[in-house]
Amino acid sequence: MTEIKPFKKRVWLSSPTMHGEELDYIKQAIDSNWVTTAGENINELEKMMASYVGMDHAVGLSSGTAALHMCMKLAGERINPGAKPGRALEGMRVFCSDMTFDASVNPVVYEGGEPVFIDTEPDTWNMDPKALKKAFETYPDTKLVVLAHLYGVPAKMDEILYLCRKYEALLIEDAAEALGAEYSGDIAKGKCGSFGDFAVISFNGNKIVTGSSGGMFLTRSEEDANKVRKWSTQSREDAPWYQHEELGYNYRMSNLIAGVVRGNMLHIDEHIASKKAIYERYREGFASLPVSMNPFESKAAPNYWLSGLLVDADHMCPQVRGEKDYLYTPESGKSCPCQILDRLNELNAEGRPVWKPMHMQPIYMNNAFITKDGSGRAVSNAYIKAGKATDCGADIFARGLCLPSDNKMTAEDQALIIEAVKRLFD
Ligand SMILES: *Cc1c(COP(=O)(O)O)cnc(C)c1O
Repeated sequence: MTEIKPFKKRVWLSSPTMHGEELDYIKQAIDSNWVTTAGENINELEKMMASYVGMDHAVGLSSGTAALHMCMKLAGERINPGAKPGRALEGMRVFCSDMTFDASVNPVVYEGGEPVFIDTEPDTWNMDPKALKKAFETYPDTKLVVLAHLYGVPAKMDEILYLCRKYEALLIEDAAEALGAEYSGDIAKGKCGSFGDFAVISFNGNKIVTGSSGGMFLTRSEEDANKVRKWSTQSREDAPWYQHEELGYNYRMSNLIAGVVRGNMLHIDEHIASKKAIYERYREGFASLPVSMNPFESKAAPNYWLSGLLVDADHMCPQVRGEKDYLYTPESGKSCPCQILDRLNELNAEGRPVWKPMHMQPIYMNNAFITKDGSGRAVSNAYIKAGKATDCGADIFARGLCLPSDNKMTAEDQALIIEAVKRLFD
């Protein structure tokens, strides 16, 4: 067997892919001296995003996290009118995706809310509608759900929308990773970011379309869009001086960054096509191994932002994770995410563990966690039982990983990565 040599140039998980128009739009902004948080790039990008996603209004912000914060304020205002500034969700439980980036959840806490984590289902790696139902039965007065579509795969939207309507809860869609992903269900039809009351897209450097940073808030309500425009520019009133009646934020998008996103957005279809090709090459390459790719429903068309891999439970070698370190024992015919990630790193390729579930994070250790069977806290301690978890999120965290998914990775590089992973299972 020939040895596989490390890549001379690092193969990234997901790096920006620039095309040229980005620079044209930045140049226009500089030539016209709109080097600020207003200008044509922002205006055009907002129109472009609203029409692309299928929402009526879009507001360009400094990050996806800032956009989520604005969603929390709006939701809090509706559910809990008259709350103190900065405490829009005071005393409120908020049902949140559990296996996600903490930026999905932190904005709940910025406004004094209490995240309650909802377990993950194995069919799309997103919020489990069965667990969400349990959560509504357990805490029926909860009026807000924050749902992430992980790795560009739409969640089970029909079931989740049905429950939100039944329990009259608002839905915030964290579509940060899912720009361009589509779902055609019975209740929910369209692009991710168009199903909730409010939605968020991120243009962070590793997302499928990027501006280096930046985010977009989406809504059907013109009034809400105007509120977010005002709040994100320090809540200035219409007066000849700086007049303030509400708490303000400096969250508006820069017109230069809007130029990068605007140019990059022209290529979203190509980006999705190349990510899809990467996913399919992995799926074919790993067909003979005891692993599977991150799954999606037949009514969903993901954007394939990151390709995920799950090792079959009976082909996991022993692996334990502590708070910051890990150990595993290689065994013939078996492997595990830690071993695969080590091997990728040796080859100068970047993989990543799947998002460590929020209920396992020290910062959220005391928050409620609901599985399809009820309180997840009562039955599992995912730290101790990693690999033998009783909840789906901890199980996917133990057995899953994100593969290098950069759309500048060549098919030859990818073939070597596939071969290297295959050899771990010999
Ligand atoms: C990237 C990301 C965010 C945050 O977006 P930023 O623009 O980096 O603030 C939020 N939620 C999820 C699921 C993300 O992946």
